[in-house]
Amino acid sequence: MINVTKTFLPDQEEYLRYVREIWDRGYLTNNGPVLQQLEAELKEYLGVDYLYFCGNGTIVLQIAIKALEITGDIITTPFSYCATTNAILWENCTPVFVDIDPKSFNINPALIEEAITPATTAILATHVYGNPCDIEAIEIIAKKHDLKVIYDAAHAFGVTYKGKSLLSFGDLSTCSFHSTKVFHTIEGGALISNHPELDRKLGLLRAFGHKGDESYEFAGINGKNSEFHAAMGLVNLPHVPEIIRARKEVFAAYDSLLDWNILYKPEISKDIEYNYAYYPVVFPSEEIMFKVMEALRIEDVIPRRYFYPSLNTLSFMPRQIACPVSEDISVRVLSLPLYVGLPYSDIERIAGIINGHLLL
Ligand SMILES: *Cc1c(COP(=O)(O)O)cnc(C)c1O
Repeated sequence: MINVTKTFLPDQEEYLRYVREIWDRGYLTNNGPVLQQLEAELKEYLGVDYLYFCGNGTIVLQIAIKALEITGDIITTPFSYCATTNAILWENCTPVFVDIDPKSFNINPALIEEAITPATTAILATHVYGNPCDIEAIEIIAKKHDLKVIYDAAHAFGVTYKGKSLLSFGDLSTCSFHSTKVFHTIEGGALISNHPELDRKLGLLRAFGHKGDESYEFAGINGKNSEFHAAMGLVNLPHVPEIIRARKEVFAAYDSLLDWNILYKPEISKDIEYNYAYYPVVFPSEEIMFKVMEALRIEDVIPRRYFYPSLNTLSFMPRQIACPVSEDISVRVLSLPLYVGLPYSDIERIAGIINGHLLL
């Protein structure tokens, strides 16, 4: 079977060397030495000062909202994974959806201001597929209206924007290191901050608010991660450049093989070094997309409807807000198989099946 993704696994022996060390030490979690080493190496690799390795890419969104003391309405994108909005709901805030730009598939900054009310306190936007939001426009709006900015940069590991890591923007950025992402720690995530004054708070929020063994500063949560997860990160990190290189080749193959008279895909910013995280293609209609999915399934090729559904259409959203662009794209977009080791012959076969089923 060819799935939309296949987790990169490093040499087993390299991982087991860390496991043996952890075993000998008998120290498995709670800010251990392997985790501290991973944080140091990630800061170095990303060129950021403050980074907290946490349990996953969802709890870091919740901690980010908590740390910035955000309440009320949060302007956000309907075109993301449900974790983005669920984190808002779990923090007792209200997602206010602003439609996306039809070219980048990111939140459309031209529509943000009209959605701002006195209840608005923040913007939580996703760098969709690792393609940067209009960071400058969002910053201007945020400054003008005194709003906090959080970026869900779950897709953006390894992307640089104008020479800086795409994880270093906003008041806080978050990342996911889930097994399906470009860089993974099995499960995991990170908070990346530009605020020295938040350093202590973020550390405390991640670990129950513990101040020493017997006192608590405030109600923190368990956002920690283990030595075993950190070890997977340390073993995978040196492979990131080769992972991105291999993904770039798959990307280029699809680019040259697919029928662009009929299909289209988001425009990737010219100001970035990209990580080739996903290969989304938009079909002329949902009906044609279903036809293609079925033809691929028969050949045991499983793409993913990503993102689907448009988050503003979920029944449990407190406020129903129409987002026609996001709703239209989400029903006819598929992410195609993209991973290290996907053979050219399979890419050719997948592209052939797709091109052969584009007419009804
Ligand atoms: C993967 C992902 C998350 C959640 O990350 P987990 O580590 O699975 O919790 C959040 N937002 C986006 C956009 C994602 O793709």
